Amino acid sequence: MSAELRGLGVSAGSAAGPALRLGTPPKLPAAEPVVTDSQAEAERAVAALEAVGEFLRGRAEAADGAAAEILAAEAMMAGDPALAGKVRGLAGAGRAAAWAVREALADYRAMLTAAGGYLAERAADLDDIADRAVALLLGEPMPGIPSPGYSFVLLAEELAPADTATLDPAAVLAIVTERGGPTSHTAILAKTLGIPAVVSCPGAASVADGTMLAVDGSAGTVLAEPSPRQLAELARRRAEHAARLRAARGPGRTRDGHPVKLLANIGGPAVIAADAEGVGLLRTEFLFLDRRDEPSGEEQRATYAEILAGMRGRKVVVRTLDAGADKPLAFASQEAEPNPALGIRGLRLGALLPGLLDTQLEALALAAKDTGADVWVMAPMVSVPAEAAAFAERARSHGLPLAGVMIEVPAAALCAAAIIEQADFVSIGTNDLSQYTFAADRQAGELAPLLDPWQPALLRLIAMTADAGRTAGKPVSVCGEAASDPLLAVVLTGLGVTSLSMAPPALAEVRAALAGHTLAQCEAAAAAALAAATPDQARTAASAALADQDSRS
Ligand code: PEP
Ligand code: MG
Repeated sequence: MSAELRGLGVSAGSAAGPALRLGTPPKLPAAEPVVTDSQAEAERAVAALEAVGEFLRGRAEAADGAAAEILAAEAMMAGDPALAGKVRGLAGAGRAAAWAVREALADYRAMLTAAGGYLAERAADLDDIADRAVALLLGEPMPGIPSPGYSFVLLAEELAPADTATLDPAAVLAIVTERGGPTSHTAILAKTLGIPAVVSCPGAASVADGTMLAVDGSAGTVLAEPSPRQLAELARRRAEHAARLRAARGPGRTRDGHPVKLLANIGGPAVIAADAEGVGLLRTEFLFLDRRDEPSGEEQRATYAEILAGMRGRKVVVRTLDAGADKPLAFASQEAEPNPALGIRGLRLGALLPGLLDTQLEALALAAKDTGADVWVMAPMVSVPAEAAAFAERARSHGLPLAGVMIEVPAAALCAAAIIEQADFVSIGTNDLSQYTFAADRQAGELAPLLDPWQPALLRLIAMTADAGRTAGKPVSVCGEAASDPLLAVVLTGLGVTSLSMAPPALAEVRAALAGHTLAQCEAAAAAALAAATPDQARTAASAALADQDSRS
């Protein structure tokens, strides 16, 4: 009999194939060898770190977009002179090279984990660096994605950014991880690569290599040893699904023609599909986070102009820098904060360092002029109407006519009417809105059920915001991961959201889901989901409402 595992479906689509586990990290032997030449041992340890940095840089060059950024950041960590100094110190004091590397990186890891937020998320990068360097020093194969010469379903406890960033969609049919949440690296990158993925799936890591698995990344199910009938059913669903995707083209709209703009989330220069209606979220952090000095206005202007020109007249919503204590900037470091996610972040940093925000707004305004692009600008981490008003005024003073804010703090959703009065539009960042509503760190895999975007409390905050937008006659977008769930996109439309922005590979799925239902059906699904008590009940209630309306039409 086939056994079923259940997790969170975070990247739609289905696939079947043999399971293969991620290469396991090397283990240090029980006895540490006695070192005779501590100087030579220190050099060996540092050389291993350098080799890992080189390896990661090579992978970064071969990748693009988010993957390239993640790998380049990890390569920089591996080459950090302070880390090399620490490793040298330990090896110089008599530790064997592999042990010195492990200990130095464990110390760094503890520091990052204690800092919480974005920095804690980087802890996985350090583990990856340590594993690779230790494997090199012990003469073992590098851990990571296996390459057996056939396609497989990748199983792991959790993926390191370096692994997710270089997944080959032709070889990896689907990803199933024991841990990780809906906003983890695994989820975002799997979606970007269009690989079906299920995360937070208990039992996944102990499935034996070679077990046949059928993975449904929409439903969040993993079937072990499916019967021929189940495999045939999966193939039928896959073909039907592919046909539906091919049939859905053009601008986003419901079956009865209600328009919902479908936009792309990007994090740097990108090429988006011809029928994407523009960019709903350009994350500008890529220009700042790994820099020792603030990028000049001229450099920013040139980079923005390059991105804007590539969009050929389509709307581009640019988010101003979302950095702060949890994504520290080398050139604008603040005092360490005990709770970085609750600290000087996003627009709050802009208020503290007005020059930083002004340079960015000025560069954007000039790039908009250079290209004639349709630029909308918005601020992250806005909590009160006064912040929205101040941001809109600043943007307009630079000649940017359309200024909006993100709704990602519960206070902003609760007072959405007053906030939207000060802005031209709002965009709901459901990743952070979940984190702050449920007091649950968005990177903490074990808290994934709280961060489920179908949580009725989150849906209610979205409904309040959409209502405020409708009353004011202003656009309300969703640009968090929630927008890329096809069934949830139907519900969001029913709640009154006017545009949805997501990782580009998710656009076709969402377009097809909207095209399959009328606005009245979307509204019925939204009402059913809002009235539910749990995320699972919300999903079931929304599906049942759609099926019920289908049977009546
Ligand atoms: C969000 O919080 O939902 C969002 C879109 O912003 P980011 O994921 O960049 O914090
Ligand atoms: Mg956010």
